[in-house]
Amino acid sequence: MRGKDARQIIKLLEQEYGLPQWRVRGDPLAVLVQTILSQNTSDRNSEPAFRRLVSCFDSWEEMAEASIEKIAGCIQSGGLARVKAGYIKQALTELRQKRGDFDLSFLRGMSVEDARRWLMGLPGVGMKTASCVLLFGLKMPALPVDTHVFRVATRLGLIKEGISVEKAHRELELLVPPGGVYRFHVLLIAHGRRVCRARLPCCGRCVLREVCGWRGLGDNVCCVNK
Ligand code: SF4
Repeated sequence: MRGKDARQIIKLLEQEYGLPQWRVRGDPLAVLVQTILSQNTSDRNSEPAFRRLVSCFDSWEEMAEASIEKIAGCIQSGGLARVKAGYIKQALTELRQKRGDFDLSFLRGMSVEDARRWLMGLPGVGMKTASCVLLFGLKMPALPVDTHVFRVATRLGLIKEGISVEKAHRELELLVPPGGVYRFHVLLIAHGRRVCRARLPCCGRCVLREVCGWRGLGDNVCCVNK
């Protein structure tokens, strides 16, 4: 599959799920902290943890100065509280040391690759987290590859089975046009949750059936007639 196919996939999924609007979700640092909190847990757990965290402190400065224990106490509902509190404190501290403030908007002046590398120099920030900050906080065409995107893209034949998540980020970014990155990310997640599920994918009612290398393999009775 090549870029032409990625564009066709976006078009077919838009017809099914509608056209997602690419909007900045907020201050890029807030997106970074939110994404760290979302690691290894669901939005249902991480979102209340983030709301509680920001209610505990009046500023990023105050959060950076707080003890790990205090930060962990504010994010208990998000799971792995102590580990994530450590990442958040270290990331804030390093950002202030490197830049003198808590503003990540300077990343807009860099290429996606350079901006992502800069973010990945912060504690607790891997490829996916950095890509989320760029896509949702700075409206830059970085493509976060989560479990749904990885699975659906593999089944579609866009990426090879068994490649690393890092490689998957790079290969998919080469295939998807920059203007389609947000839609591709959001639509593949929607499709992965509703139709191309990890277990029992509903190939029988899938709008991508004609372009999918996996078609038929996932046909199962419970989905075909839905
Ligand atoms: Fe997933 Fe099946 Fe659709 Fe392929 S045809 S994208 S495997 S649900």
